Amino acid sequence: MNDDAYEVIIVGSGPAGSTAANLLAQAGRRVLVLERESFPRFHIGESLLPIDLPLFERLGLTIDASAYKFKQGAEFWDERTGDFAFFSFADAMPGTPSHAWQVERALFDDLLARQAIARGAEIHFGEAVTAIELGAEAVAVRSERASYRARFVFDATGQDAWFARRARTVAPIRELGRAAVFTHFEGLSAAAIDEIGAQGNIKVLLVPDGWHWIIPLVGGRLSVGLVKWRGKLDEEALEAALAASPLIQRLCAGARRGPTRTIANWSYKNLRPHGPRWACIGDAAAFLDPVFSSGVSLAMLGAERAVDLLLPALSAADEAAPELMAPWSSHMQPAYDAFEQLIRRFYHTRMVHHLFFAAEPDPALRRGLISVLAGDVWRRDNPFQAMLESSRLQPRAPTILPDPETQQD
Ligand SMILES: Cc1cc2nc3c(=O)[nH]c(=O)nc-3n(C[C@H](O)[C@H](O)[C@H](O)COP(=O)(O)OP(=O)(O)OC[C@H]3O[C@@H](n4cnc5c(N)ncnc54)[C@H](O)[C@@H]3O)c2cc1C
Repeated sequence: MNDDAYEVIIVGSGPAGSTAANLLAQAGRRVLVLERESFPRFHIGESLLPIDLPLFERLGLTIDASAYKFKQGAEFWDERTGDFAFFSFADAMPGTPSHAWQVERALFDDLLARQAIARGAEIHFGEAVTAIELGAEAVAVRSERASYRARFVFDATGQDAWFARRARTVAPIRELGRAAVFTHFEGLSAAAIDEIGAQGNIKVLLVPDGWHWIIPLVGGRLSVGLVKWRGKLDEEALEAALAASPLIQRLCAGARRGPTRTIANWSYKNLRPHGPRWACIGDAAAFLDPVFSSGVSLAMLGAERAVDLLLPALSAADEAAPELMAPWSSHMQPAYDAFEQLIRRFYHTRMVHHLFFAAEPDPALRRGLISVLAGDVWRRDNPFQAMLESSRLQPRAPTILPDPETQQD
């Protein structure tokens, strides 16, 4: 047993774990991260939001514009009707940061982890945690290689959700996207690179029962995925959907295709995300849906808030207080609520056709929408967010397909 070597142990070095490690180490705390994989490793989730930028500064991150793709905003397309909308983050409400980045997660997660190490955190890669024992006086963490003790543990295991799956506190959200099948193209033609342009926008294409993502990456690469909230989703479905999209056909003409991957059943909330000497951050606490690219931002900003609560508690030797992280839940609730409401409307109402594609949108609502799309969801002066809150869509079992030809409001 490696007694008292560390004050905090973090399980998982994704965006949530590395953010927490960086901030704890910056504050002079002895922190150990145990990460199962060797980095760099593949991870899906490549489109970031502007709201991350101030936190990048606090972490001391420098984004190398030659390694990541500048992202000006988000485009929404319905190729069936010809509808199109572009939202530039620069047109958001005052104060919302005006751009973001498209990142290859292998590189980005490695950058975050290396920056945490540079700030003084210790990270053991290729060391999976196999047991966590929460005691009154300390937390004992075992890995395949060693045993450790600490005063507090963060579960940053992503969708593995260490505590939630063992305590059976995973509450699936059934009406959001259920599965994704995706691939990467490389060697895009000069015409395609030209069409994507310097804006580097994410393109969201509406299809029956779901949507495509098209995310440009540096080096003439494109990430393309298909997400559905119901129906069969496999390689065959992806092939058919790719073939049916003139835009994807045009952008990917002549490009080399990488392997196809699938991922499913990701939408859930962890009903018990914290307790005495422990807290879940990032996807281990909740994950909604990829459609508005909120996952990494909520993971990193949630980790930041949790560390800001833990630091004074460590100084006061109060880290075992059962309600220490209760303010974390109150802080994250409006953010999860805003995105959940937006996502429910995306899948189960005609919001995109009526609001996103509106010919003459209300300017204040449009600015507010863009601030939400940018992840700036903690402000209290956003009329669009207030509208989402005041007319909440409750969970329900949808009965009709969101087909623009037939669906009513
Ligand atoms: C199809 C899809 C598309 C997405 N697209 C986007 C997007 O465009 N933009 C966006 O912002 N988000 C996106 N997301 C969400 C995003 O990927 C996640 O929200 C984000 O990765 C969460 O970060 P995290 O640190 O919580 O978890 P992760 O990034 O998953 O990191 C968890 C880490 O914990 C490690 N780990 C797990 N178990 C153990 C163990 N026992 N011991 C040690 N280590 C362990 C894992 O190896 C992993 O490295 C998408 C998600 C899906 C499903």
